[in-house]
Amino acid sequence: MRLSLNVQIFLGVIVGVVLGLFLNHAGNDSQLSKQGLYFSGLVGNLFVDLLKMILVPLVFTSIAVGVANLRVHQQMHRVWLCTLGFFVISMMAAILLGLGATQLFEPGKGLTLDLFHDAMSGFQAKQMGFGDFTSSFLHALFVNPFAALAQGNVLAIVIYALFLGIALVMGGERYRNILLLLQEGLEITLRMVGWIMRLSPFGIMALLMQLVIKQDVAVLTSLIKFILVVLGTTLVHGFLVLPLMLFLVTKISPSKFFSGAREALITAFATSSSSATLPVTLRCVEQHLHVKPDIAGFVIPLGATINMDGTALYEASAALFIANLAGVELDISQQCIVFFTAMIAAMGAPGIPSAGMVTMVMVLQSVGLPAEAIAILLPIDRLLDTVRTMVNVEGDMIGSLVVQKLVFKINQLKG
Ligand code: ASP
Repeated sequence: MRLSLNVQIFLGVIVGVVLGLFLNHAGNDSQLSKQGLYFSGLVGNLFVDLLKMILVPLVFTSIAVGVANLRVHQQMHRVWLCTLGFFVISMMAAILLGLGATQLFEPGKGLTLDLFHDAMSGFQAKQMGFGDFTSSFLHALFVNPFAALAQGNVLAIVIYALFLGIALVMGGERYRNILLLLQEGLEITLRMVGWIMRLSPFGIMALLMQLVIKQDVAVLTSLIKFILVVLGTTLVHGFLVLPLMLFLVTKISPSKFFSGAREALITAFATSSSSATLPVTLRCVEQHLHVKPDIAGFVIPLGATINMDGTALYEASAALFIANLAGVELDISQQCIVFFTAMIAAMGAPGIPSAGMVTMVMVLQSVGLPAEAIAILLPIDRLLDTVRTMVNVEGDMIGSLVVQKLVFKINQLKG
C-alpha cells in the first residue's frame, strides 16, 4: 500500500516532533541529542538546499511567463491593482490585530529591560533608520539580472522578470520563440519540483526535529506571555481573518482551502522561509486550488517577497512589547508610526528565516526604542518564525484566489 504524500507529510511532522521532544529531554550535552542534531541538520538542510536550487529558475520563468500571458488577455492592470490592493489590506488587518491584542494583554508590563541587560549589552544592533532602509530597499530593486540570478536575489529577479514579461508582450509575435522557451523552462522546472516534493516528508521531519531539540525551555517560559500573544494573534489572523476574506470574495470554504494548501503550509512552518516554500506554494495553488497559472505565476512569487501578514503583525506587536519593557507609553501618533513602519519593514523583509528580526530594528528606531532590545527577541525567534512564515505563505495563496475571482468579476462587468 502506498501512502499519499499528504499522509506521509503528516507522519513526518509527528515523528519529527516526537523524536525532537525525546532528544530535547535527553539534554543538549548528551551524545544522543548531538547525533540527532547532526542528522536532522544534514537532512533538513539538504531539503532546503533542493528547494533553493529550484527557486531561482522557477521565479524567473513563472513571473515572465505569467506576465506575458496576462497581457495577452488584456488583464494586466486589473491583476496588478487587485494584487497590490489585497496585499496592503490584509497586512493592515494583521497589524491592527497585532497592535490591538498587545494593547489588551500588555505583555512585558511589570518586567524591566534591566533583566535583559546582559543579553543586550553583548549585542551590537546595526543602525537602520527609515531613510536608510527606504533607500537601500529601492536600490536593491534594479540589479544586474545575471548577478541576481547567481546570488539568488529574489526581489531583483522578480523585477527583471516583470520587465522581461512586459517586453515579451510588447514585442508580440517577434519574440514567440523566447516565450516558448520560457514556457517550456517553467514546465520542466515544475516537473523537478514534483521530485523534490517526494522527499518533503523526510525534510520536514528533520527540520521539525532540529527545531524542537534546540528549544530552551527556560528562555521560553520567561517570555511566555509575549509568545502566547504573538502566536495567538497570528493564528487568529491565519485561521479567522484570512479565511473570512477568502470566503467573502470567493465563497470557498476554509476546509476546502486548507486541504488544498496543507503541503505548502507545513513546508513553510518547517522551513521558516517563504522563498524556499515558493515551489511548493505554486504547486498547491495551481494543482489543488485551481488558480490559473498566469495569475498564480504572478501573484505567488510577488507575494513571497512583499506580502507578509505574519511578519507585519509580529513587528508591530514586538515594538509594543519592547516599549512595555522599557516602560515607555507610545501615544497614538507613535503607534501610527509603528503601524506604517511595520508594514514597510515586512514588505522589505526577504522570505528567509528570521528576516523580520533584521527589519525590526527600523521599527524600534522609528519611535526611539533601543534597537539592542532585539537581543531579547532573538532566542525565541526560530519558534515564532514558524507560525508567522506559515501565515505569510497562506496570505499569498489566499491572495491568488481572491485576485483570480476579483479579476473574473471585473472582466464580467466591463465585458
Ligand atoms: N521567515 C519569514 C518568511 O520567510 C520572514 C520573517 O522573518 O518574518 O516569510
